Amino acid sequence: MSKSPRLELPSGQNFTCQGSTRCCRMLDVPLLPAELARYAGEDWKEKPIARTLGGAPHTPLVRSGACAFLSEEGRCRIHERLGACGKPLTCRIFPYTFAFCGPTVRVGVRFSCPTILANKGEPVVRQEDLVRGMAQAYRQAKRIEPLPRAPFHLSYELSWKDIDRIDEALLSSLEDGALPLSGRLIEGAELLDEMKYVYIYGSPEEVARGIDGAAVRRRVLEALATPPPRLGLADRAVLAAFLAYLAPPGRGRSAPVRLALRLAARLPGRLRLDEIGRVSRRKARKVSAELDQESTALLVRYYKARIWGRTHFGRAFHGLSYVAGWNFLLAAHACLVFAARARAATLGRPRIEIADVELAIQKVEERLYSSNLPAGSWGKILSFLLTTGGTGKRLALRFAR
Ligand code: SF4
Repeated sequence: MSKSPRLELPSGQNFTCQGSTRCCRMLDVPLLPAELARYAGEDWKEKPIARTLGGAPHTPLVRSGACAFLSEEGRCRIHERLGACGKPLTCRIFPYTFAFCGPTVRVGVRFSCPTILANKGEPVVRQEDLVRGMAQAYRQAKRIEPLPRAPFHLSYELSWKDIDRIDEALLSSLEDGALPLSGRLIEGAELLDEMKYVYIYGSPEEVARGIDGAAVRRRVLEALATPPPRLGLADRAVLAAFLAYLAPPGRGRSAPVRLALRLAARLPGRLRLDEIGRVSRRKARKVSAELDQESTALLVRYYKARIWGRTHFGRAFHGLSYVAGWNFLLAAHACLVFAARARAATLGRPRIEIADVELAIQKVEERLYSSNLPAGSWGKILSFLLTTGGTGKRLALRFAR
């Protein structure tokens, strides 16, 4: 890492570990070769190399899905034996994320952590030295070279300064209470579409004219006023794949793509979602997708954190471009609202409450944004469906309003 990279910390975000052990019960923890060698030299009753995911060794799990190193007293056995610095890197840096954007390091946070979700503890901006050490360890271990430019759309790249401006446009759209939340996210996708055409394919005059924000807003209002769009086969395949990731561990983690292909032609009437249980799709659809003020505020905070942390695209997210990553976020939002409606339905409520949204955010973060999504060509197909095919927008219009 250069001598003094500029660390950009999330203002307004607090964090001090409350020892909930939720991360130890849901993270897939990959082990670096040095960690594996160190743990293999110790005499554990757990076998550190017992589990591989995507060809890489991970900490073993017990039947409940928790890490096998978590003791009955809720303590990490590696921590007890080798100290905090002896723990796997993934555990040491959680819940922080690091995006190396040219000369700056953008620090983000994961909402799968209940303390981040509840915004408890010391302000992150006051923990700069601690976080800097984590960023350094992460960069060294992963041998990360900062990207000079950002992947924007397909193979087109933009400067990080341009990305700052795009972030600002999306943030101000997110905070505009004149639209329902799904409308604000859709407006973000429409803005990106405009930028794509103007800045990549546009003439110098068009570039100078910039984006017509009023026309974008008109399109969003029209889309919100028309009946929900019908879903095509590709839309259903994406929805099925996403819901498969929200299934209980064993099933959801092992074969989401296979399950998606099976479900693509016809989604079953009943689904099983982790920590929510069995739910009939018909009953879930009867729950209103309307969000109260508290839930909307939480989701706005969550999406603002995703934009700030730059965790929806690039190296942080399977190499997706900014445009594809935003459309993934739209489809994930539809899934999140569906999961919240499903939870309300299982509890016999006609409306979503904040607790439904909190759990849905955690599940989407744990599963859809975990490191085990199909990469490579699957990622490319997904990008194509979500952006060129408009799947993200259709799913949000269908399930989240
Ligand atoms: S290795 Fe330790 S800190 Fe990491 S998930 Fe397992 S129990 Fe938790």
